[in-house]
Amino acid sequence: MLKLAPEAQAAAALASTPATVALRGVVKEYGSMRALDEFTLEMAPGEFVALLGPSGCGKTTALRSLAGLESTDEGEISIDGVDVAKLPTNKRDIGMVFQAYSLFPHMTVLENVEFGLRMRKVEKAERRERAQEALELVGLGDRGARFAHQLSGGQQQRVALARALVTRPRVLLLDEPLSALDAKVRVQLREQIRRIQTELGITTLFVTHDQEEALAVADRVAVMRAGRIEQIGTPEDLYVRPATPFVADFVGLSNRLPGVLKAGVITAYGSTFELLGDAQPDGDVLAYVRPEDVVLATAPGTTGAAKGLAATVVASSFLGSLRRTAVRLEDGTLVSVQHDVSLQPAPGDAVTVSFRGNPVSATPAE
Ligand code: ADP
Ligand code: MG
Repeated sequence: MLKLAPEAQAAAALASTPATVALRGVVKEYGSMRALDEFTLEMAPGEFVALLGPSGCGKTTALRSLAGLESTDEGEISIDGVDVAKLPTNKRDIGMVFQAYSLFPHMTVLENVEFGLRMRKVEKAERRERAQEALELVGLGDRGARFAHQLSGGQQQRVALARALVTRPRVLLLDEPLSALDAKVRVQLREQIRRIQTELGITTLFVTHDQEEALAVADRVAVMRAGRIEQIGTPEDLYVRPATPFVADFVGLSNRLPGVLKAGVITAYGSTFELLGDAQPDGDVLAYVRPEDVVLATAPGTTGAAKGLAATVVASSFLGSLRRTAVRLEDGTLVSVQHDVSLQPAPGDAVTVSFRGNPVSATPAE
């Protein structure tokens, strides 16, 4: 018989039937504060959705409402088409991981992972076996006898993940599980979470305020603002076709260039750009142009396809595989350009910039 690695065996044992999740028109108010404003999100079975947005936009409230930790004022919440709005948390079949380490300090790692099974009155031998399996899944099969304080932050969050998965929930909810960790561990752990999620096929909602993290792990990213989802799509969709300036600004960097919108086309500095998103009235606008959609040339006045606008280099930073350079146009507008490391502009250099002309989002100019 084929011998599977302990992680793969554990994944097979812990897999559950993936569920659909739907929140429709959910409203949650704290006094006069509308934390969720007709919040709507539908997730396919096995899908990994990142809920991305600035602090205070309602991400935690959305997650807690789905988990039943928060009562809601209006709207529907269903799992696999069944209304769960009136069900208590422990009947919703959900696993959760929070930002702060939430392990019980007086219990061993294994006892922490067993906890949910004990609540469900699973007998001891089976409890032990399943908790051990969940620890294997997160690569901590040999740490069951330790206490939380004997583990690193990243290991503690892996234990929290094992504890959330041990009951074979249909839905996994993670609320900024990586934000207390240092950068390198954060990247390793997000990859591990994604790998485990894929192996288990569990429908997962992952809350973060970190756009890079959201783009890196999710099947779809939902950008949230003031209690509702402003746009949801694949990472590529959001980056290339942001529906609003808020999304363009939140996902990646953008320059804001003054231009004129007419019939869905923006003209700025002699270049034209198709407008993304909903139609807008003609007039003066600010166009959101990505640094990688600007082309830098270091020899002004040379003849060629791109004539370019005269500009002066303000600063340039080396970012490993690329450089980002800030230049000032003759009208004073600052433009950030992303380019190959073979170009090494210095502050004060005279350069030219031109635009690739990819579609952009825009706001009316003040
Ligand atoms: P996020 O997780 O995106 O940072 P939250 O969902 O925690 O946002 O909060 C959304 C809004 O609801 C915020 O304005 C917050 O201050 C408010 N809020 C959250 N929880 C409570 C509460 N228990 N009582 C009063 N206001 C709350
Ligand atoms: Mg939060």
